[in-house]
Amino acid sequence: MSRINGFVGRRNFLKLVGLSSLSIGTIIGCNSIISDREQITIPETNPNPNPVTANEAQRRLIAGNKRFINQNRQYPNQSQRRIQSVAREQYPIAAILGCADSRVPPEIIFDQGLGDLFVVRVAGNVASTEAIGSLEYSTANLGTELIVVLGHKRCGAVAKAMKNERISGNIGVVVDGIKPSLDQNQQRRDNFDDVDGNENDQQGTDEVDDNENDQQRIDDVDGNNNAEIANIRYQTEKIQKNSVVLDRLIRAGRLKIVSAFYDIDTGKVNFIEQNSGVRSQNEE
Ligand SMILES: [Zn+2]
Repeated sequence: MSRINGFVGRRNFLKLVGLSSLSIGTIIGCNSIISDREQITIPETNPNPNPVTANEAQRRLIAGNKRFINQNRQYPNQSQRRIQSVAREQYPIAAILGCADSRVPPEIIFDQGLGDLFVVRVAGNVASTEAIGSLEYSTANLGTELIVVLGHKRCGAVAKAMKNERISGNIGVVVDGIKPSLDQNQQRRDNFDDVDGNENDQQGTDEVDDNENDQQRIDDVDGNNNAEIANIRYQTEKIQKNSVVLDRLIRAGRLKIVSAFYDIDTGKVNFIEQNSGVRSQNEE
C-alpha cells in the first residue's frame, strides 16, 4: 500500500482486511461475523513506522486534558510546518468515538493538534456500523493503538432516549442506538435489587458488595450520570463485539479500547475502568 495513507480506496481497504465486497455486505447486513472470521486478516505489523503504544497515547491525552483544565494549553501541532508534515500521511495517536455535542470537541479538551486524533463524532457516541468501520480504518490502516469512547455529562441524545416520546425524523435512529444501554442499565439495577434482598446467600452478598462499590464509584462522578455512563459502557462493548478487525488487533496486543466520561461543568475527562467504576485521571 502506498505510503500516502490518506483515505485509501475501497478496493485497497478490502484487500487490506482480506474481504470480498460480498462478505463485507454479509458482515454489515446480519450476524454472520463468525462465519466470515477466517477471511479477515490484519496487517502483520503496525503501519506506523514509529508506533505510539496505547498507554503512551492515553498518557498524552490525560496530560493534554490537564493542560486544558488548568488553562495551560500548548495548542501543539498546529503550525504551518505541521500542516505540511501531515499533508501526505497521518498516524494519529488515538481514535475517539465521541458525541457530536458542540461542547465536547476532542482536539480542544485533550489539547491536541493536526494529525493527532482520529475523531468519529455522532450524537450519543453511538457505535454505528459506519463508526465502527471508521475506527477499523484508524487502527488497521493508520496504526492507532488506542480507541477512546467518549461520552459526557448532560448528553442531550441520552436524555432524548430516556424520554419515551414520539420522535420525528432521523433522530430516532440515534435514540434507537442508545436505548439498549438504558435497558441494560435498568436490568443491572433490577439484579442489584434482587441480590440485595437475599442476605443469607453469601455469594449473593459478595455480589452486592461488588455492585455497591461499582455504583459508588459511578455516583462519585455525579449521581445523575448513570444513564450517560451506561451508554458509554454499552457502546464500548458494542465496538468490541461487532468488529473482527478490532478483536484481532486487541488479541495481537496492538489495540486497547477504553471508555471515558467528560464533565462539561469542569472540563475534566475521567477514564472508566472495565467492569467497574470511574477512575480519576489523577490516579494515572
Ligand atoms: Zn451528547
